[in-house]
Amino acid sequence: MTSKGNSYDVIIVGGGPAGIFAALELAAKPGLRVLLLEKGADISRRRCPARDTGMCVHCPTCDITTGWGGAGAFSDGKLTLGTEVGGWLGDYVDNDGLRRLISDVDGIWRQFGAPDRLYGETGDRHEHWADLAARQGLRLVRSPVRHLGTERSVSVLAAMKSYLDTRIDIRTDCAVASIIAADGTPPPRKRAAAGHAQPMAKPYSKGPRAAGEGAAGDLGRVAGVVTTDGTTYEAPVVIAAPGREGSAWLSAEAERLGIDLVSNAVDIGVRVEVPAVVTDIITDELYEPKLLYTSRHFEDQVRTFCVNPRGEVCTECWGDAVTVNGHSYADSANKTSNTNFALLVSTRFTVPFKEPLAYGKSVARLANMLGKDILVQRLGDLRNGHRTTAERLRRGIVEPTLKAATPGDLSFALPYRHLRNLVDMLDAMDALLPGVGGRDTLLYGVEVKFYSSRLTLDSDLQTPVKGLYAVGDGAGVTRGLVQASAAGLVAARAARAAGAR
Ligand SMILES: Cc1cc2nc3c(=O)[nH]c(=O)nc-3n(C[C@H](O)[C@H](O)[C@H](O)COP(=O)(O)OP(=O)(O)OC[C@H]3O[C@@H](n4cnc5c(N)ncnc54)[C@H](O)[C@@H]3O)c2cc1C
Repeated sequence: MTSKGNSYDVIIVGGGPAGIFAALELAAKPGLRVLLLEKGADISRRRCPARDTGMCVHCPTCDITTGWGGAGAFSDGKLTLGTEVGGWLGDYVDNDGLRRLISDVDGIWRQFGAPDRLYGETGDRHEHWADLAARQGLRLVRSPVRHLGTERSVSVLAAMKSYLDTRIDIRTDCAVASIIAADGTPPPRKRAAAGHAQPMAKPYSKGPRAAGEGAAGDLGRVAGVVTTDGTTYEAPVVIAAPGREGSAWLSAEAERLGIDLVSNAVDIGVRVEVPAVVTDIITDELYEPKLLYTSRHFEDQVRTFCVNPRGEVCTECWGDAVTVNGHSYADSANKTSNTNFALLVSTRFTVPFKEPLAYGKSVARLANMLGKDILVQRLGDLRNGHRTTAERLRRGIVEPTLKAATPGDLSFALPYRHLRNLVDMLDAMDALLPGVGGRDTLLYGVEVKFYSSRLTLDSDLQTPVKGLYAVGDGAGVTRGLVQASAAGLVAARAARAAGAR
């Protein structure tokens, strides 16, 4: 049902998985007036020139990270269905609740066209690989994966849009500038000097909570939003789901409204590319092996992330920094002969530093400065202490799928600690999957995963401003499609239970 003028029951900010799943849940309640505002373009109009050229041209609004479908629209669409991966929702809901949410989310993705095939489900093969991994000091995390593939990801998100178009109001190309609090916005508050002096975003209580109970409401209540074109939309419930791209905006709004924030970790590393035959033996069975390793030299945790069998390496633009990523198509016609995956080192800074985002961007910008955005180096060259040249790259057996990457030397961009950790993990992986640590293995740099600061939230993902919920990657509580979608459900269900009209 649509609005009376500019007045709604619920406003959702952001049309990524978190916002879309909140909308799907709310659309099921007849008579509820829901508005979804998305700052980017509709999915049918999203185009990234770098998809053809490999070179980011710094569009004013990035069509990879913004628009209907959010950051995941052109992603590989791997729905990772384990409770241990994809975010920190487990800090807010108990394990059984999280399992049920993941199952609900999976059902909805399938209803709109996700395939039935599930990888990594068969327990005995997982056990087999977990045993082999353990012998090399690697831990294999159980996480079944449903693979949409880049092309199907788009059609599933378009199907969700068509369904919602007839049930709620959706405005694309419409950014929210500010959130209105009814009782008058408190004056700007200074954040605590030490990033971690504040309590962690508090999982007030896990499990169900009676409507209206808890810490929400201490800072007044939400009344609506104002968009950048100056239009005011009113609603007693606002679900903020702006993703990583909108996280700086959401943090600034939270500070203005008096909501406490804590810094999250920053994950920095490289995208590794190997001949697919090296990894087929494990990816054919598990699709995405999630491996964890404690590095020999620094005892830091290093992990594999976003494995793309027979996929492509691509770029991603975060304002003034270009980072590397990867994806793969489901259709065999688009498959390559390489497999890529990220290797990431996670760092949570303590005191006094509290700008993990700025740190990650600085490292990315160093690589951008040395190459034309992204550097690529053969592992053998890195080990031997010299740069990769175009000639050395040509001689290698791995043909880079990101053609625009500049052959260079990652040791000028990545801190020693990170490089050492990454090489330690590649050595361990090479013992499990011979060839991963080969001379011609390609390392693209740098890959950075920025996690937004976490807002103070209760177990419904409601902020202390009553009626204002913050969900998904932008609220710092998730980092993947499944948990972001689940977070949208949590907030929408809580809003409905609390009687959103
Ligand atoms: C290249 C790539 C590949 C990925 N591959 C995978 C994968 O295979 N599997 C996986 O689980 N995860 C993957 N991810 C991560 C996944 O896409 C995200 O975790 C997920 O999209 C987060 O969902 P979200 O709704 O919280 O945020 P987003 O998807 O980022 O959506 C937020 C939306 O809010 C909009 N927005 C921001 N600010 C405003 C504002 N002020 N007003 C209005 N709208 C606003 C943005 O334009 C955006 O569309 C990938 C990400 C990328 C970038």
